[in-house]
Amino acid sequence: MYFHGTTKINEKGHLEIGGIDTIDLAQQFGTPLYVYDVELIRKRARGFKKTFDKLNVPAQVAYASKAFSTVAMVQLAKEEGLSLDVVSGGELYTALCAEFPPEKIHFHGNNKSVEEINMALDANIGCFVVDNFYELDLLAELCAAKKVKANILIRVTPGIEAHTHDYILTGQEDSKFGFDLQNGQAETALKQGMKSEWLNVLGIHCHIGSQIFETTGFILAAQKIFEKLAQWRDEHQYNPQVLNLGGGFGIRYTNEDEPLEPHQYVEKIIAEVKTQADIFKMTMPEIWIEPGRSLVGDAGTTLYKIGSRKEVPNVRNYLAVDGGMSDNIRPSLYQAKYEAVLANRPLEQAEETVSIAGKCCESGDMLIWDLPLPKTTNQDLLAVFCTGAYGYSMANNYNRIPRPPVVFVENGEATLVVKRESYQDLVRLDLPLNSSVKI
Ligand code: PLP
Repeated sequence: MYFHGTTKINEKGHLEIGGIDTIDLAQQFGTPLYVYDVELIRKRARGFKKTFDKLNVPAQVAYASKAFSTVAMVQLAKEEGLSLDVVSGGELYTALCAEFPPEKIHFHGNNKSVEEINMALDANIGCFVVDNFYELDLLAELCAAKKVKANILIRVTPGIEAHTHDYILTGQEDSKFGFDLQNGQAETALKQGMKSEWLNVLGIHCHIGSQIFETTGFILAAQKIFEKLAQWRDEHQYNPQVLNLGGGFGIRYTNEDEPLEPHQYVEKIIAEVKTQADIFKMTMPEIWIEPGRSLVGDAGTTLYKIGSRKEVPNVRNYLAVDGGMSDNIRPSLYQAKYEAVLANRPLEQAEETVSIAGKCCESGDMLIWDLPLPKTTNQDLLAVFCTGAYGYSMANNYNRIPRPPVVFVENGEATLVVKRESYQDLVRLDLPLNSSVKI
């Protein structure tokens, strides 16, 4: 079993995170419970940032807050000197509540609304990552109305899609995001942006995929972008200040995964950008990246109480926990794999193979298939590792299950940063049949 960050087994033989016994955490805050190892988040953030500093490359490391957005997490990102990528009014609002420096906020999204754009303009955010022609027009119009100029990055799809070990080159990128680099749309967007008195085209953005374990895809993307940038310099006298190469750096969910360290991704990316800038005799742009999962993914552990058991003779044994797809939809959504141990006796020899089911009313509500475990009782706690990214942020109230609380642990101290939802919270927005609110 691979333990991340400060996770270890303590003198009582229990799982400990951030210097705190997970059994104590479960007793104090209940289950299910998301536990975040703050020291590990800091280490990851510093890993990315230090590498740019060491190589003396002007950069921004923007935390992709879609991975896990709460006020405390955004405050932590601020403490670590990160920038912030937001994708909605809600993520932006969270950032503003956390008093995140607005000039370091980058606004993403393929369908930003008028209200969202106005909210971001009023907050004076750092830049908009413009995704399509509709947004290009809308943003310029809303800027004109307010008489403010917005910085933009033009999001391009370079014709490369990368996931874990694979990358595929696609001719015409079939994606809802961005302007295609090959078919001329990106160039049209650039010209339109340059022409607008309300927009300042700071640079180019691309994001090639997620859970990527090698640097080939980033390198190919950089090469394709530089080819175009050289052309645009010659034809339109355009020189980008910023090149944002997105996020997607992989993490170790199970021992089948072999991610690189943050510094390894960054070093290779920088080396390629320098090479390309030399080849085309271009000024080196500022490099921005936007990691989400690789900052918070392996820092999160979910604690569950074990409940019912169903044995299907000669087929499999199901063990149900007190959460499921309502707090972690990734296994149901895209067959994501996780590892887990019993938090109260992680060292005990496995005696059987069980499949971990959630408590939601869906057959697909499974968290882990075929997990070796000791024989369990309902006194046991299951700790599922690497649930820090896209767990809480994708949590939902299916079956009206309240969302679990989030606790940050660091140096032997636990801080509750999101309260457990109550049944009252669940009906907070409901109105009775004879409501006085009529249209
Ligand atoms: N940037 C963009 C544009 C994305 O779409 C995503 C994820 O979907 C990210 C960054 C963060 O990706 P990851 O969490 O895999 O690092």
